[in-house]
Amino acid sequence: MPSERNGAPPTVLGGSLTRSPEGRLQTLQTHGLHTSPKDAQQVWSELVRRRYPRAWDRQPLSPIGSVIEWSQRIRITCGACRRSLGNYRGYHVEDEYGIVEDTPRRYETATLTAQLPGNRAPRAKPRFAIDGEIAHRAAKTTAIFHCPGCHQECQRNLARLGRQLMQHADAELALQH
Ligand SMILES: [Zn+2]
Repeated sequence: MPSERNGAPPTVLGGSLTRSPEGRLQTLQTHGLHTSPKDAQQVWSELVRRRYPRAWDRQPLSPIGSVIEWSQRIRITCGACRRSLGNYRGYHVEDEYGIVEDTPRRYETATLTAQLPGNRAPRAKPRFAIDGEIAHRAAKTTAIFHCPGCHQECQRNLARLGRQLMQHADAELALQH
């Protein structure tokens, strides 16, 4: 726990989910490594399971490392039938943009490999999956939404969708097919 003696501002530890002085959700990453779409999802899923001291809110972060900015929670819906496709958050870290599913559940990469040609194992299509360079660049990653209502599939470039969510003012976004 950070010391607060002499009224000095508390030191925010890396990996915590706090609010910036402007009120934006943010996370300090102290490792300085590139944040891939897969990393971002794992960071978010870990964050929502933890609690941090309120005193860490509104504190400036250390200039060391990089800061992940998170959007508000946005419900993505099917543009065709309006069924919910889940809750998501956009993220921005250095020159990367992307989205994460707003859930403590980690990615089930097995659902991705099950869809590869040659693998006949039939599995229910996940509502949300990412494919492509998921361990590298969001710009080379595809977000795949599968509507459980009308069974339509919707694909978006992960980086472009991430930028859209970071700028989206509403709590809901309908995906047009
Ligand atoms: Zn639908």
